[in-house]
Amino acid sequence: MLVTRSAGERAHTREVLARVEAAGVTDITLLRSDRISGLGGEDERAAYARAKATLAVVVSPPSARKLQPIAPSADWRLDLARGCPAHCQYCYLAGSLSGPPITRVYADLDDILAGMDAYVGRGTVTSTRTARAGEGTTYEASCYTDPLGIEPVTGSLAAAITHVGTHAFPGPVQLRATTKYGAVDGLLDLPHGGRTRIRASVNADSVAGRFEGGTDPVAVRLAGLGALARAGYPVGLTIAPIMPVEGWREQYTALLESAAAALPADADLTVECITHRFTPGSKEVLESWYPRTKLEMDPERRSRKFGKFGAVKYVYTAAEMRELRTWFDIALADHLPAARSLYWT
Ligand code: SF4
Repeated sequence: MLVTRSAGERAHTREVLARVEAAGVTDITLLRSDRISGLGGEDERAAYARAKATLAVVVSPPSARKLQPIAPSADWRLDLARGCPAHCQYCYLAGSLSGPPITRVYADLDDILAGMDAYVGRGTVTSTRTARAGEGTTYEASCYTDPLGIEPVTGSLAAAITHVGTHAFPGPVQLRATTKYGAVDGLLDLPHGGRTRIRASVNADSVAGRFEGGTDPVAVRLAGLGALARAGYPVGLTIAPIMPVEGWREQYTALLESAAAALPADADLTVECITHRFTPGSKEVLESWYPRTKLEMDPERRSRKFGKFGAVKYVYTAAEMRELRTWFDIALADHLPAARSLYWT
């Protein structure tokens, strides 16, 4: 683990160091500057493995404190960290973060949380749309990391949940996080005030089992979600990335049945559905990290979708999308009739 000079002066760093030491980690380097170097070299695979195993405590760049819109999930992206130690072969971070995939935990957590006030009522996804207005202004904490995955060594998610649950904001707010982990014990007794919605990121057995290295099994994620719901948290399922793998109908049916069994009947439950997509950049990075991957990333089999700035994304064809979406609409109504669907993409 690395701690930059500026991060060493921040209060949250003490919390991280205490947690890391309690976890038995002894390889801790306090850097004399704010530059993290020496993680390149060797071949790309070795550099990847070393970076993925490295946690750095840093002060966030000024850009992290200027919140960005993050439709369709939430009004604003709120980064508590950047990077994730898991090894998902489709990871969307591959296309959006450059450089070695170190996990950077932000030491200036107090400033990041204090900055939330200025955005209340200003978003375009839940602040102003009637369909989702009940959620208040929403802040998504899992765009660039899995906040629960690194929580044992950061404590950042607990601090954020407590802040959001107890702070007097100028209007209604909701913190959001999605995770492929299930260790929720440290969150159950927090004063969350019903203002944090945690979602389990779940998938068909063959997708989770084959492509989501280093994460908790789906059953563990669902058990954690059930415990959160029983502790009064609003919860959700992020079904992502949906893939029409062989036997997908049976596999996703089994998933929805397991979710229904894990959650209390009165859970405040939402569902978000995200189909698999990739970009030329993410494909290139992922194929260098996972050269033997069986993940389908064939541009010839996909439709092109153009983003705001002309960037191309490869998504399933319109016919495949229609088939998937129609099936999920019916299956969700059957198995999780009380769940509210937030979006399909
Ligand atoms: S858990 Fe999420 S952020 Fe982490 S590697 Fe997997 S997809 Fe990427």
